[in-house]
Amino acid sequence: MSGETELSTMNQFAAAGTLACRDVCVAISLLLSLGFLAATQAVAAEVHTAVEVKPVAVELGGTDQVLSRGYRCSATLDLRSQALSPQQEQAICQELADIEARFHRVFGTEGKPVKHDLNNSLRANIYASADEFIRYAGAHFNMPTNNGGMYLEGLPEQTGNRAEFVANQNKDGSVRNLGHEYVHYLDGRFNLYGDFCANLHDSHEPPENCAKPAPQTPYLIWWTEGVAEYIARGADHPRALKLAGSKVFSLSQLFDTGYMSNSGDERVYAWGYLAARFMLEQQRPRLEQMLSFTRSGDYPRYQALLRGWGSSLDAEFAKWLESLNSAPTQTQPHTQTALK
Ligand SMILES: [Zn+2]
Repeated sequence: MSGETELSTMNQFAAAGTLACRDVCVAISLLLSLGFLAATQAVAAEVHTAVEVKPVAVELGGTDQVLSRGYRCSATLDLRSQALSPQQEQAICQELADIEARFHRVFGTEGKPVKHDLNNSLRANIYASADEFIRYAGAHFNMPTNNGGMYLEGLPEQTGNRAEFVANQNKDGSVRNLGHEYVHYLDGRFNLYGDFCANLHDSHEPPENCAKPAPQTPYLIWWTEGVAEYIARGADHPRALKLAGSKVFSLSQLFDTGYMSNSGDERVYAWGYLAARFMLEQQRPRLEQMLSFTRSGDYPRYQALLRGWGSSLDAEFAKWLESLNSAPTQTQPHTQTALK
C-alpha cells in the first residue's frame, strides 16, 4: 500500500539519524499535507475504515484495542497504554505534574499559553515494549518507529487538534524519554508560537516535511532540546556536567546547533542543556527578551537578537562551565530514575 512507501522513507531517515535529535524526541508537527492525507486514506481504504480528517485519531489497526487502558492524570494530561499498572500510572502522573509545576515556576507561564495555541492537553500513548511500539506506532500514528518516541504537536492553532506523545515502556517498566517529551509539550504551548514548522530549525525531513525550514542560523534547537533536558532533569545531568569541562563549544556556536548539520547527540542534548541552563540561570534578562520574541512568533527578531549578542557571552559561558565542572555533582529528588 502507498502508506508503506512513506513509512519506509521515514524509517530511513530515522535510521540515518539514530542518535540525532529528531528521532529521539523533538517536538514535531503532524502535517495535514496532501501526502499525509493520501497515505492515510490509502491505508484506511485497505482496511475498509471510514476516514476522518483528524489524523492521529484515525483508527488503523485498532489503536483503542491495542492501547486499551485509559487513565486521566489531570485536565492537561491523559494516558493511554497497553499495560501500565495502576501504580505506574500514578507514578507517571506524579512525575509529570511535578515537571509541569516546575516549568511554570521557572517561566511564570501558568494559564498563559501563547496565542492561537489550542493544545490544552496532551495524550501520552505508551506501548508495552519497544517491540510493540515498532509493531503498531507507525500504523497508529503515521510516524517513524526507529526511535525513542516522538512528540506530535500537530497544528496547535486548529480546533480539534490533539497533541500526542508516543513511546514505550522500558524493560524495567519505566517510560522512555517521558519527562523530556512532556517539556516539549509545555515549551511548545507556553514559549514558542506556532507549530514545529514555524520554529527555527534545518529539518526538511518526514514526517513534517516542513516546506520552508529556516534558511539560516541561529536556530532554536539548542533551546528546545536544552530546556527539555533542564526542566526534566534539573541540576542532575552527570553527562553534561562531565562534558562541561571540555569546553568544546562556545555559546555562540551552540546557538547554531542544527538537526541536519552542526548536530550530534552530545551537542544537541548535553550541550543544549548547558546553553539553556546558562541562559536561564546567568542571563535571565536576555533570555526573557528572547522569549518575548519566540512567544509572539517574531522569529526574525529572535535571530537578530542572537546575532547581536554574537560572541559577547562566550567568555562568561566558558567561565561558568569551569565553575560547574569544579562543583560537586548535585542530585535533585525529582529526577526519578525509574521513569527516565
Ligand atoms: Zn527532545
